[in-house]
Amino acid sequence: MQIEANNPDLKSWVHVSPDSDFPIQNIPFGIAIPPGRTPRVCTIIGDKVVDLLEAYDLGLFDGVGVQRSVFKNRYINELMALGKEKTREIRQRISELLRVEDPHHAELHSGRILVSVSQCKMMMPVKVGDYTDFYSSEEHATNVGTMFRDPENALLPNWKHLPVGYHGRASSIVVSGTPIHRPMGQTIPPDSQQPVFGPSKLLDFELEMAFVVGKETRLGQRISTEEAEDYIFGLVLFNDWSARDIQKWEYVPLGPFLAKSFASTVSPWVVTLDALEPFRTVGPDQDPKVLPYLQYSGKKNYDLNLEVAIQTENGDEKVVCNSNSKYLYWNMAQQLAHHTVNGCNFKIGDMCASGTISGKTPESFGSMLEISWKGTKPIQMPDGTSRKFINDGDKVVLRGHGRKGKLRIGFGEAAGKILPSNPFK
Ligand code: CA
Repeated sequence: MQIEANNPDLKSWVHVSPDSDFPIQNIPFGIAIPPGRTPRVCTIIGDKVVDLLEAYDLGLFDGVGVQRSVFKNRYINELMALGKEKTREIRQRISELLRVEDPHHAELHSGRILVSVSQCKMMMPVKVGDYTDFYSSEEHATNVGTMFRDPENALLPNWKHLPVGYHGRASSIVVSGTPIHRPMGQTIPPDSQQPVFGPSKLLDFELEMAFVVGKETRLGQRISTEEAEDYIFGLVLFNDWSARDIQKWEYVPLGPFLAKSFASTVSPWVVTLDALEPFRTVGPDQDPKVLPYLQYSGKKNYDLNLEVAIQTENGDEKVVCNSNSKYLYWNMAQQLAHHTVNGCNFKIGDMCASGTISGKTPESFGSMLEISWKGTKPIQMPDGTSRKFINDGDKVVLRGHGRKGKLRIGFGEAAGKILPSNPFK
């Protein structure tokens, strides 16, 4: 699809450094609180938040036919509910406002509509109703199956026939920057059948991406892989924090529960599927052949570089993983087709995460469980300490971007610092 706002030759009157995730071609949506103002729908260019409510009040959206309440809002759900045709029009207008040519003279109002991102408080962009986590990386599922079951039959028999997933917890999805308390829970000591209670000792991250649903479906309605992308508004980075020791004891027979539900961290800007159009790529071959409702055509994977860094309390940082979302075996269209095949309905703002995105080599493994191979291969940190899992005081930072020629479209960060367990009061 040709989208005019994606043109890599477009230039803005706002300064954007070449390594910025947010050039004029990105125009993601998020919720910011600029100093002295209420929460509102904003976008970002370079390191400047663009206050879209101020822009609206200045008349810069005149003729687009959109209500003020779309921008004077604590979430972007109402914006997404306008539908892709209208949100494309809104992004097109924002693109025009920010261009060197600037036909609407927005630059004259730059003092009102631009605010440094460092001065803004970022909020959850989306009111998430339901959240599902998939398990769509063959490399991750193979690593986990090899560690905990049988290296010869690492994948369970269903894995290549359907995108495995589970229903997660929406209430504890938090925006980047929110500190996370180390979860308490039951674990089983080695060589024991008697559980003990205490702080998780094996706290982990999972490098994932999540898509945000922007169009409702009816109960009983199925979505085909062809239609699926109409229902996907955009993507965020997603850290599915995981307590491995709690998970190991609790997960049979119904799957993850408290080991996952204490927190998930997302990046603050929802990058539209439209902006990611240049990064479409082919997915891995699927063999055996999948059932007809999961078959698809065209490029349904996205070539997005992903990394995870751990920052220790003294500020030192080590990048512990370099991966790419193109490795995912099951794409988002297949995930949505599968999720709705039984008639389960979706609401605007629902979120579906990919599952840990690992590549083939150890440098690209997307969790400490895999990087340290169940704790048998600790990694060295720049401050002289080592890590098998995540310590109190560590900050885990996910980053991601696509690059094509001079065009770079990114997500910013999904960062969270681990605090000690919360004591009972
Ligand atoms: Ca996960």
